[in-house]
Amino acid sequence: MQDYIPTAFDFDPDARGHFGIFGGRFVPETLMPALLELDAEYKKVRFDEEFWAEVNYYLREYVGRPSPLYRAASLSKELGAEVYLKREDLNHTGAHKINNTIAQGLLAKRMGKTKIIAETGAGQHGVASATVAALMGLECEVFMGAKDVARQELNVFRMKLLGAKVHSVESGSKTLKDAMNDAIRHWVTNARDTFYVIGTAAGPHPYPLMVRDFQAIISKEAKEQILQKTGAMPDMVVACIGGGSNALGMFAHFINEEKTQCIGIEAGGHGLESGKHGASLALGRPGILHGQLSYLLQSADGQIDEAHSISAGLDYPGIGPEHSYLMEQGKVMYDSVTDDEAMEAFVWLSRAEGIVPAFESAHAIAYLKKIPKEEIKGKVIIISLSGRGDKDMPQAMEILKL
Ligand SMILES: *Cc1c(COP(=O)(O)O)cnc(C)c1O
Repeated sequence: MQDYIPTAFDFDPDARGHFGIFGGRFVPETLMPALLELDAEYKKVRFDEEFWAEVNYYLREYVGRPSPLYRAASLSKELGAEVYLKREDLNHTGAHKINNTIAQGLLAKRMGKTKIIAETGAGQHGVASATVAALMGLECEVFMGAKDVARQELNVFRMKLLGAKVHSVESGSKTLKDAMNDAIRHWVTNARDTFYVIGTAAGPHPYPLMVRDFQAIISKEAKEQILQKTGAMPDMVVACIGGGSNALGMFAHFINEEKTQCIGIEAGGHGLESGKHGASLALGRPGILHGQLSYLLQSADGQIDEAHSISAGLDYPGIGPEHSYLMEQGKVMYDSVTDDEAMEAFVWLSRAEGIVPAFESAHAIAYLKKIPKEEIKGKVIIISLSGRGDKDMPQAMEILKL
């Protein structure tokens, strides 16, 4: 497979990071120099062959790319469709997050930074950041909500083992939103020697653009692979959405294909009508959080509502700005899946294919059962299997009681 290098997409933001009205750079003045420095550096490397040769070296030799596009035979038979899984779960450290942290780590080194910081929900981005820090000789501090520290203890230990310092964040809902607040606060006072590695396609410009570029390798590979296997474009491409990075990575090279419908799945939690969910696009309104304008779960007077999801990686009240834009443009279809539906899919995939998905990825799998029977017949569907379920074992043991 040829080296990956991003292409300029139709959905690139403008020079100040706006996707339509969304995105932008809503940060305190003290952070502007750091963001402008990063913006200038990313402009230099975005299409630079030397930079990408190094990124590709690590993606191939260290991460294990390209990840397979696996035809799920049992699922296909059961549904009367052709279901393919893009196996991001097989990447080193167990999810798609490492695609992004490798590239951001190399960018940090280029910029002469000696420390990286990261926020994390499920802990996958924290682990991917701590891994890259160990690999590249950088110091690493990870901010994680106290609630997530409790439900993702395996990943917390992994980060510590890799040499990272983990800050348990006690404010607010004690989840990803609060971890990101603290990471930004830390960055404000330490930007000189510290690079902030954001884990999803969100935050102030240029992060949403950068992270989308870094994850777009997923669909670049998947497109080649599906053409080789079936000779045609898929009918549907499905991915779960926390901040939206695995989804944008999965959609990037398919979004302009006439035949292909891209479908993003938000966390339905206890159900959209329950008020306990993470469906920012379905039930949020545009607002500003973490340096960007995007759909956001908020109360009538603009207080940020707590998100809810069984999966820590989807437990976020906001969403990357490009998704807000793609939804309003009608380019991508969005739906949601509840905690219960995701847990059912978690067991279903484990037993039908011998693949234990991350709780997050189980949301995308569960969508297969929401497609009406007559509609799914004969369709070719690619699912982004964004991560593996190892990190979720303690929580699964409590819920499933097998
Ligand atoms: C972090 C994570 C997600 C959600 O993040 P996105 O930026 O929306 O992709 C999904 N799946 C897994 C396995 C994750 O670790």
